[in-house]
Amino acid sequence: MADNLPAQPDRPDGSRLPSAEHARSDNDPQPRAGWLGENLPASIGGFGVTWATMFRKVYTEEYPEVKRPTAPRYHGRHQLNRHPDGLEKCIGCELCAWACPADAILVEGANNDDTPKDEGGTGRFSPGERFGHVYQINYLRCIFCGLCIEACPTRALTMTNFYELADNNRADLIFTKEQLLAPLQEGMLAAPHPMVEGMDERDYYLGRITSATDEQRDWALAQQAAEAEAAARAAAEAEPERNMISEGGGAL
Ligand code: SF4
Ligand code: SF4
Repeated sequence: MADNLPAQPDRPDGSRLPSAEHARSDNDPQPRAGWLGENLPASIGGFGVTWATMFRKVYTEEYPEVKRPTAPRYHGRHQLNRHPDGLEKCIGCELCAWACPADAILVEGANNDDTPKDEGGTGRFSPGERFGHVYQINYLRCIFCGLCIEACPTRALTMTNFYELADNNRADLIFTKEQLLAPLQEGMLAAPHPMVEGMDERDYYLGRITSATDEQRDWALAQQAAEAEAAARAAAEAEPERNMISEGGGAL
């Protein structure tokens, strides 16, 4: 085959160019070892793993009866945190929703309202101006990346180690604010209620609040009493109407 190649011309200085035959020999594929030669070492290695595994002790995870603890920083279900007096840390800013790459979070903010309830006020849920009125996380979409908790400016949103988030329907995997809110700890009072007297939102974020005060508790008790009284009044007003309906044979 080399005999058929054209002869290479000499260089002007008299030296000879490498022949086409020589140039090609550098690029020639290596001689093949055959199918067996190529695959036998890998097959032996594979069977070696199989044999070694056959004689190992079988390890069975007894889930769900036995639950192994996760790594401390495992990304599990989210939690909406509270201040030590029970007010919510979420200010409804929606930054978590904007940061989420899976569009799994829905937030609707609303204004806190210090007007008393009997004058039409809706209450205060967080220190400052706004609070998270609607908050939902769709666990069918969430990929547990943690970008939302990085984006949260108040550390309202964090992730727990809880990982049992399977279900047999879609609706139950959309968690609402009530499901995500951290449970009340000792010294906390469920929102809505006023801020600690003489403190502003900066004091909350500087950690100057340690628990709900007596004034806040009195306020909550007064609210409960007013609500109970209003409910009793409404029931008393409805009673004559019910009597009239029953006397008239229920016909309306
Ligand atoms: S963990 Fe990631 S995917 Fe899940 S809600 Fe947060 S940002 Fe979205
Ligand atoms: S959880 Fe944090 S980022 Fe999301 S709306 Fe509330 S305060 Fe803003």
